[in-house]
Amino acid sequence: MTATHTVALPSGVLVPALGQGTWHMGEDPARRSEEMDALRAGLDFGLTLIDTAEMYGDGGAESLVGAAISGRRDEVFLISKVLPSHADHDGVRAACHESLRRLGTDHIDLYLLHWPGSVPLAETIGGFDSLVSDGAIGSWGVSNFDVGDLAALPAGTTPQTDQILYNLSRRGPEVDLLPECRRRSMPVMAYSPIEQGRLLGSTVLREVAAAHRATPAQVALAWVLRDDPMIAIPKAATRDHVRENAAALDLRLTADDLATLDRAFPAPDHKVPLDML
Ligand code: NAP
Repeated sequence: MTATHTVALPSGVLVPALGQGTWHMGEDPARRSEEMDALRAGLDFGLTLIDTAEMYGDGGAESLVGAAISGRRDEVFLISKVLPSHADHDGVRAACHESLRRLGTDHIDLYLLHWPGSVPLAETIGGFDSLVSDGAIGSWGVSNFDVGDLAALPAGTTPQTDQILYNLSRRGPEVDLLPECRRRSMPVMAYSPIEQGRLLGSTVLREVAAAHRATPAQVALAWVLRDDPMIAIPKAATRDHVRENAAALDLRLTADDLATLDRAFPAPDHKVPLDML
């Protein structure tokens, strides 16, 4: 099967709603070939949005991604992230060029500030804008920005997404952050959508999955993607996990399923500061 669900970024660019994460990939040489195979299988299944970061494996994940997409760069919507400690104007530019070198490409499609730091946002965005002018990045966005962080963005600037921790067990963003992103017409990108595997043992998730002849991972992903516009980036380092995750796009949760999951994983009724992993 091929993933076809897409989400429009503020720029108008359409990206797959389900992509591939890469945290903890590229760290163990013994796993390299399996990880490359998983990423390439993901491309075959339509999961052509790949998320990485200079931080992951100290550049090891970017190098792995570069090898995995070699010869297939045109199929991929490539995302990487700059550390806040590199987020001054020249630091952003230098970090980006290091990422490009590791990724073996001349452009990153979407470049994110990994989390809010101490460099004034106007300076970081100035660096991003200069990279856009050079063609080194297609666009920029943010990650781990709560409502107050978004409010601190200079007027008139438009991040393409806010990449945040969001899954069944982390529903705090529903109180104010998701509505704020909707108000800004900015799709959210949910990271750790299966809570790094910790959700998979849930009895309720297993029961909902069994009723659909699906798996708990597929239910967790279908739940994250239940409302537009949302992007999810599960990390899977085996071909079987990637295949299973891609098939989550075919799973439609019923109103009864959603009510069952709401009871087991209730959304908070008050502001919860954005969590970060
Ligand atoms: P995740 O995607 O929720 O979970 C990954 C874990 O789930 C891995 O152990 C993986 O195992 C397992 N898994 C994946 N598919 C599975 C399946 N179908 N069945 C059973 N197990 C499955 O957690 P994550 O890696 O933290 O988050 C995803 C991505 O989001 C990251 O890789 C990264 O790109 C991004 N992220 C961004 C931030 C940020 O600050 N912006 C923070 C965290 C994550 P295998 O590896 O063995 O397949």
